[in-house]
Amino acid sequence: VEETLRQAQKIEAIGQLTGGVAHDFNNLLMVISGGLDMLDRQTDPNRRRRLMDGMTQAAQRGASLTRQLLAFSRRQTLRPEAVDVAMQIGGMRELLDRSLRGDVHVQFDFPDQLWPVEVDPGELELVILNLAVNARDAMPNGGTIVVRGENLPDLDEEDISGDFVRLSVVDTGVGMSPEILSRVFEPFFTTKEVGKGSGLGLAQVHGFATQSRGAVRIKSQIGRGTSIELYLPRSKDLPSEHRHLIDFNKARPK
Ligand code: ADP
Repeated sequence: VEETLRQAQKIEAIGQLTGGVAHDFNNLLMVISGGLDMLDRQTDPNRRRRLMDGMTQAAQRGASLTRQLLAFSRRQTLRPEAVDVAMQIGGMRELLDRSLRGDVHVQFDFPDQLWPVEVDPGELELVILNLAVNARDAMPNGGTIVVRGENLPDLDEEDISGDFVRLSVVDTGVGMSPEILSRVFEPFFTTKEVGKGSGLGLAQVHGFATQSRGAVRIKSQIGRGTSIELYLPRSKDLPSEHRHLIDFNKARPK
C-alpha cells in the first residue's frame, strides 16, 4: 500500500512538473525558432548579433531549467525517524544566520514539551532553509522570522487526523496575492528575477509534508506577512541525538 501511495504521489508530482516546464520550454523554443527565422532574412550585422544573443540566452535558460529538473527528480526517498524539532532546528542557528542578512533575524518559539515528529531530519532542515530564505526575500527592509512549534492533539481534518506538531515559519513581509497563493506549490513557479529563484522551494516543502503524511497550509496577507504552517505527525518513538545534516561549509541558500 505504501509503495502504491508513493508511486501515486510521484506520478502526481511528475504531472505538475511537466505542465509547468513544458510551458517554459515552449516559450524558449519559440524564441529560438522565431530568431532563426528572422536571422535567415536579416542582413544587418548588428541586428544579427542581437538576435543570436537572444537565442543563446534562451538556450542557456533551457539548459539551466533541465539541470534544476534533474536535481529535483533525483531526490532520494525520505527516511523518516523520530525527530526532536526544537533540537534539530535549534542546531541550524549558524547556518540560518549565514543565509540571511544582518537586518533579518530568526527567533525560535518552542514549548518545553514539544512532541517528537516522524520525518526525515535532513529534508526537514532543507525545508526550514527554503522557508527562511523565502521569508528573507519577502522582507526587503529587514525584520524578524519566527519559527514556532505547537502540539495539536487529536486533529480531525479532511486530510490529516491524529496528533500533530504544527511548525510555523512566520514573516512580516510583502505577503502574497490570491493569484500567487494559488500557484506557489507548482514546481518552477516563481515571481523572482531570473537566476534569483528556481520556483522549487515550496514544491519541495509540499512534497516533504505530504510524503511525511502531514500537510502544509499558508496564511498570507498582502503588506502584512505570511505564515507557512507545516503539520507533522507525532512520533511514538524517542528521538535519537540531534546531528547536523546540512554541511555548513557547503550549504548555500538556493
Ligand atoms: P522561489 O523562492 O525560488 O521563487 P518558491 O517555490 O519557494 O520558489 O516560492 C514561489 C513563490 O512564492 C515566490 O517566488 C514568491 O512569489 C512566493 N513566496 C514564497 N514564500 C513567500 C513569502 N514568505 N512571502 C511572500 N511570497 C512568498
